[in-house]
Amino acid sequence: MAKQQTLHCSFCGRSRDEVKILIAGQEGHICESCVEHAQEIIVQEILPMQEKDAASSNYKLSVKKPIELKKFLDEYIIGQDDAKKVIAVAVYNHYKRLNQKVENDDVEIEKSNIIMVGETGTGKTLLAKTIARILNVPFAIVDATVFTEAGYVGEDVESILSRLLQVCNFDVTAAQKGIVYIDEIDKIARKSDNPSITRDVSGEGVQQGLLKLLEGTEVLVPPQGGRKHPEQKLIKINTSNILFICGGAFDGVDRLIGRRINTNAIGFSVNKDLQEYQRKNLLQFVNAQDLKSFGLIPELLGRLPVVTYLNPLDASTLRSILTEPKNSLIKQYKKLFELEGINLVIESEVYDFMVEKAMEYKLGARGLRSICESILTDAMFELPSQKVKTFTVNKEYAERKFTISKLSLLKVA
Ligand code: ADP
Repeated sequence: MAKQQTLHCSFCGRSRDEVKILIAGQEGHICESCVEHAQEIIVQEILPMQEKDAASSNYKLSVKKPIELKKFLDEYIIGQDDAKKVIAVAVYNHYKRLNQKVENDDVEIEKSNIIMVGETGTGKTLLAKTIARILNVPFAIVDATVFTEAGYVGEDVESILSRLLQVCNFDVTAAQKGIVYIDEIDKIARKSDNPSITRDVSGEGVQQGLLKLLEGTEVLVPPQGGRKHPEQKLIKINTSNILFICGGAFDGVDRLIGRRINTNAIGFSVNKDLQEYQRKNLLQFVNAQDLKSFGLIPELLGRLPVVTYLNPLDASTLRSILTEPKNSLIKQYKKLFELEGINLVIESEVYDFMVEKAMEYKLGARGLRSICESILTDAMFELPSQKVKTFTVNKEYAERKFTISKLSLLKVA
């Protein structure tokens, strides 16, 4: 081939003088306008492919009205009506926002990320998990305590999204509409209400790191989580449509709420019973101001506009948790026995006994499972080798098995 004197764009044929820049390849050149044109073609071709991928995804978002959402939550979670209602509305609005056509509308709906305050074991994770199940979106649970500010030992906040990607098998489109539950958000509170002058690696720095994720931005995510490193292939994720739900026990926040309410109530004569009721259930009055006093930075709270609370579980709630939810503990044990061909009968007094022990040992709802195990393990060990059709647990049997279990040694003073 004859050697060319002047260089030309190998795509449009224009010479070096007619273009601003010619980029050299192995056997040819390309000018700036052909690069732009090529980019348009790529976008036109790839977008429908991505939409097709999304259509073939296992995750087909199913949005329901708030009342339906709450009904579904009621099947799995006992009580917590206020939190259920607030979450149903926030989630519904979030997905309404997601379906909004931005171009012909000037009102931009902001994300309704949620923060839940409630003692441990009151159903925060269960609520978030159940809502993700109704909507059929990927759901990941992460613990805020494992993150540290970039540059320190620990995980980068971006690895929150690695978990989300992993649960949906790296289906980026699905992950971008998923729900992330960040547990123990109260553990990254800064230690005092005043911004510190020294660096606060584990607290404020992490809160700062979370800001951009919660707000909605493009993030480069290390697929396997942990720390980012230079040679790693990163996946780009846009977080604008990911719903973040944060939860924490915020131990001691009731005192802050009480202080705020008392200050506001000066000069009013409030009914004594009402006062007593309110004193016991201060969490219901929680707002962003209290969480700020607790040590969350205002910028973070600004990105978590929906604040709700969960009630502590009393004995009657624990009793209902044992038997009523669609996949309640007792239903699960009955199923396990049924698979063995055994009809498990538990007398009503046994449920009261289990609740009594859960309260006495301060084990909460999570402890109900260990109590059931302590009572039923021997039966589950022995009965599969015997020809038994029905197995009845009465209070005396339950007491005997519980007393010899390790659990009975754990009583708190
Ligand atoms: P948290 O996240 O608030 O610490 P979880 O959601 O992990 O608590 O609750 C622990 C377990 O207790 C759940 O898996 C569930 O079995 C049970 N549980 C707690 N609260 C409820 C509730 N309100 N209704 C039904 N089950 C509950």
